[in-house]
Amino acid sequence: MAAALEALQADITTLRLDAIVNAASTSLLGGGGVDGAIHRAAGPELLAECRTLDGCDTGDAKLTGGYRLPARHVIHTVGPVWRGGDSREPELLASCYRRSLEVADAHGLRSMAFPCISTGIYGYPADAAVNLAVTTVRETTTRLDGIERVVFCCFSPGDLRIYQRLLQAE
Ligand code: ADP
Repeated sequence: MAAALEALQADITTLRLDAIVNAASTSLLGGGGVDGAIHRAAGPELLAECRTLDGCDTGDAKLTGGYRLPARHVIHTVGPVWRGGDSREPELLASCYRRSLEVADAHGLRSMAFPCISTGIYGYPADAAVNLAVTTVRETTTRLDGIERVVFCCFSPGDLRIYQRLLQAE
């Protein structure tokens, strides 16, 4: 059965779920945007664990503890940098959502939140990214039985409207 999908506007570091997803960089050693916010809120132990992971490929995902976050775990995934759309960006972005859900499911997690991966510093157009996010999460959770609830956590009211339009249309 597909998971319940919802969109809300919030700072993802405040959400008390089994996991929040981080839009990380390949080094996993921190950065700006949502990555910086998650590391600040989780505390230095998160960076210490990330140092042991040997980075992460674009489109893949790795799990750590949540440390001082209300969420129990962080799933770090690396979105593609937008280069105009002909450099496998859609395939890689879909892979971020799929791999994050697979990693969560493999660890028995049931609830998780995604930020709008790649649409900040990495420049992926929001409409296209949201469409891909919703489609991929719906498809993947249909085959992964353990994931019950997926939250699309938006920072801006504009992003929230895009998700709400898509989720209502289904
Ligand atoms: P990327 O490098 O993958 O583009 P960014 O962190 O720059 O990652 O942006 C990804 C998305 O995360 C953007 O929509 C941005 O507005 C959003 N964002 C930034 N900080 C937070 C936060 N604290 N909580 C939720 N979303 C956030």
